[in-house]
Amino acid sequence: MLDYHLHLWPHHEHDTPLRVEQLADYCAQAEAAGVTELALTEHLFRFRQAEALLGGFWNDERISPALAESMAEYWKFHATVDLDAYVACAQEAKDAGLPLVIGLEVDFYEGQMDTVASLLAGYPFDVLLGSVHWVGGWRFDDLDDPVSMAEWSAREVDDCWDAYTYAMEELAASGACDVLAHPDVIKAAGYVPDAPAEWWDRLAEAAVGSGMAAELSSSGWRKPVDEQYPALGLLERFVARGVPLTTASDAHHLDHVAHRADDMRTLLGSVGVGALQGYRERRPYAVPVSRPPAGPVGGSAPAGAEGTA
Ligand SMILES: [Zn+2]
Ligand SMILES: [Zn+2]
Repeated sequence: MLDYHLHLWPHHEHDTPLRVEQLADYCAQAEAAGVTELALTEHLFRFRQAEALLGGFWNDERISPALAESMAEYWKFHATVDLDAYVACAQEAKDAGLPLVIGLEVDFYEGQMDTVASLLAGYPFDVLLGSVHWVGGWRFDDLDDPVSMAEWSAREVDDCWDAYTYAMEELAASGACDVLAHPDVIKAAGYVPDAPAEWWDRLAEAAVGSGMAAELSSSGWRKPVDEQYPALGLLERFVARGVPLTTASDAHHLDHVAHRADDMRTLLGSVGVGALQGYRERRPYAVPVSRPPAGPVGGSAPAGAEGTA
């Protein structure tokens, strides 16, 4: 099992120092849950380099003044960390033998994924998650923001899913990332179409067409929708079409690291998946789902890290 989606800070924190000890704690907790490899994947919008490059991306004719103001505040609060220092911290943890790879959660920037890719090309990332958390500057899953949540009453659910899926299709086609994170996170606040199959089909096609893996995440169980990402119907489509999978908690603090790993293991067994996909230097390899036998587990690199995929 993997925990390939981990953050360093809750969203309400923005000035907490980078510490290798925090990563060591994450690894120890994951190991106890039978998770053999972790990926540190902080949000790209946490970093000053992203603000310099992409800040204000939400400003166009489609966004309301209230949403634009909300987004500007959100970015100003979050974009405080130095990307070089973050990568150096993850590298230090990796060099110390922790079973952790260096990643990033790369948010979607309409029409600008080439710009994003050129920024990231200068860093030694092992894995890049692609995620959509906003459409046209609307943070549809920011449950703490009343301005964002009010939009759900002003829009049609089908239209929201359509806009989200269109963004995921563009993100996948860009080739900028390796894994589609929380593939149906548009449902987080609990709004799901009566017949979601057409969007599931499109999301599965986006993964197949791009060669990306898809993430099975326990974080949906901690949201109003109270369901893993992706829904079973979408997970079955990924499996049927041969899309590789990762597993993830999307933890923002230690308590959630490896959250519900056993439930995800059971779910994978029910759809016949016995292997996941890990990454080193953005090259994939297979990682077994099965819980390793009890006994001492070292912090060594995973077996089969070379040339298995
Ligand atoms: Zn995310
Ligand atoms: Zn995340």
